[in-house]
Amino acid sequence: MSDLNDVLVAQIAANGPLTVHDYMERSNTAYYAARDPLGAAGDFTTAPEISQIFGELVGAWIADLWQRVGAPARFRLIELGPGRGTLMADALRASRHVPGFQDAALVTFVETSPVLRAAQAGIVPGADHARSLADIPDDMPLIVIANEFFDALPVRQYGRGAGGWRELTVAAKDGRLAREPAPEHVREACPAGEAIAAMAGARILRQGGAMLVIDYGYSGGEAGDTLQAVKAHRKIDPFASPGTADLTAHVDFQALVNAAGTDVRAYGPVTQAAFLSALGIGVRAEALMRRADDAGRKIIASAVHRLTAPDQMGALFKVMALVHPEWPPPAGFAV
Ligand code: SAH
Repeated sequence: MSDLNDVLVAQIAANGPLTVHDYMERSNTAYYAARDPLGAAGDFTTAPEISQIFGELVGAWIADLWQRVGAPARFRLIELGPGRGTLMADALRASRHVPGFQDAALVTFVETSPVLRAAQAGIVPGADHARSLADIPDDMPLIVIANEFFDALPVRQYGRGAGGWRELTVAAKDGRLAREPAPEHVREACPAGEAIAAMAGARILRQGGAMLVIDYGYSGGEAGDTLQAVKAHRKIDPFASPGTADLTAHVDFQALVNAAGTDVRAYGPVTQAAFLSALGIGVRAEALMRRADDAGRKIIASAVHRLTAPDQMGALFKVMALVHPEWPPPAGFAV
């Protein structure tokens, strides 16, 4: 059991139950502040950590959109929750031959974790850091990238019981935390995610821009209880050890679209497999394989499989773009 467990047990004894939302926020804040959670030795692995191809294709997506909107001389290239900064490093390397692109892009990372900020500064030396989108000046076009960011934001959970809907909370018993009442029919809402989508939408409309969201999730309808905890690549009880496991909830893409407002144009969500194939993952993998030895070819093939196979990340992960109505349609969403 964790130190934060004991802090929360004491707090609940003094003040009564915490909402699931506040529990998730406290747990993830402590979790991300203290560690680099990514990779084989960590708790989970993300698409950019699986293969450089992922960030390269996102880089091509950004540069293509920037060129087709007339190559603005300056724009803010913002990444929300960049982890180790791998996606951005691969994206910038892949787009270095696009004339004027690197000079135009002012890279800002939105990151709260000091550990991850240090990793990001090492791999993308010129980047600025901000604690939130609100802290970044709203003074020029922006392209925002968010891979596995929105799923880390705290959700409110509502459960239906005899008395109607009520917000689910976390209680303490014998020094252990558990959700109450036991959830049946659960609905979720992510106010922090919606607030970010609303701000991004307003900025996109004012200055021109786009936001690319890649995450696991659904689009409207009901997904039920999607709160989960992952530690050392295994699912564990989300209430067992706060601050030591990655807590996530599936992203409701339709809720983000609604929050961004009806004037912003939404593309997708499409599956990650469809998006990456439309951007040419097959061609890119073949090019890398031609330069690799047998072992290297196996690694590339296995990475492409993990990113695109329907029983891996290909179908659960979705990609959506929110774009200024006068900007061209972004790549990757053709039907
Ligand atoms: N995008 C990266 C990392 C995903 S992990 C990748 O694909 O590898 C989630 C990231 O979001 C981490 O960088 C974490 O520190 C950051 N994060 C989580 N909650 C946050 C918050 N409330 N504000 C800013 N960053 C946050």
